[in-house]
Amino acid sequence: MVVDDDYHRHPLASRWLETRYFGRAQAETTSAEYASSVALFLSWAELTGRDLTHAARDLHLFVSFLATTPIESGRSAGSARTAGRINRILMAVREMYRFGAGDGTVPVEVIGHLYELAAREGYQSLPGSRVRHRRREPRRASEPDHATSGEVLALLRGANTARDRFLILLLAVLGLRVGQALGLRHSDVHLVPDVWSYGLEDPARPGERCRTAGEHLHVVRRRNPNGAWSKARFDFCVQVPPIMLGFYDAFMVERDGVAESASNDMLIVALAGPTRGEAITARNVNKLFERLSSRACDRPIVPHMLRHFAASEHLSAGATRDELQALLGWSNIASAQPYIHISDAQRRAAVERLADRLGNGAR
Ligand SMILES: [Zn+2]
Repeated sequence: MVVDDDYHRHPLASRWLETRYFGRAQAETTSAEYASSVALFLSWAELTGRDLTHAARDLHLFVSFLATTPIESGRSAGSARTAGRINRILMAVREMYRFGAGDGTVPVEVIGHLYELAAREGYQSLPGSRVRHRRREPRRASEPDHATSGEVLALLRGANTARDRFLILLLAVLGLRVGQALGLRHSDVHLVPDVWSYGLEDPARPGERCRTAGEHLHVVRRRNPNGAWSKARFDFCVQVPPIMLGFYDAFMVERDGVAESASNDMLIVALAGPTRGEAITARNVNKLFERLSSRACDRPIVPHMLRHFAASEHLSAGATRDELQALLGWSNIASAQPYIHISDAQRRAAVERLADRLGNGAR
């Protein structure tokens, strides 16, 4: 397939790219990646005879095309696209559509098609969701109560808004505290693969450029209008997996529809009611969880149980204590203690490993 890099030919794509990137004097390389992502999508649509509306509806076919067609040119020519690369292409495509919906070039209903895919992908790839009967170590009395993957999925499915789904993932996948999630500003969200080329500021160090690699969020300790407060004693970054980007995009579409939120830098805002557009409070989130869990789960789930879910999933996936400390922003390693359970079998394997090594050395 011949990729047509001349996106200028396409009025929506060129207007979007000019506004989004060139207008803000962004780095050429990043614009080029976005431009080539969109060019790839548009030539696929053209060659398969789809207009913008039908191409959005059939986005899953474009994904199959990306997954099965080797890269045509450049350094990686001939190799398959990684999931991360596919996600970046989709992010560019979705952003172009959102832009088009905003200026009336694309019917708003089309946006819905773009996210059906994201929702399906997201549910399938949530940690632990495919493991039905995982054997768990018996729980110690001191272990913090954590939600199970089934409960997290039930909350996600029961959530009515993209905002709630994104919030659930902030707690369950990134392991944020509620105060940390609610304290997020737009400027803390660095969901681009190479933030350096954008010249974005590190929100924790005013005047300095952010140097964190990979899509990430900054958790910064500061006063917020909704009273949210990061309990971590230092500022830190959390990496954001590709699967969350679609959920974030969907939330942004929803948030863009709330005119009152346009001037608010706080990320997680009320979508309706008297406080529409204002940052939501921890009390609101507690109520949301009461409502969701009474409908979807067999027991009440409080928000902090999602952070405990993240911690225990990381541990059972083999994260070390140091990793856990960095992932969850703990200032003290003692916080990890309640999660650390070494089973009898693990203890046995450890002494046997050591004895084997000694034995081999003695021979
Ligand atoms: Zn950053």
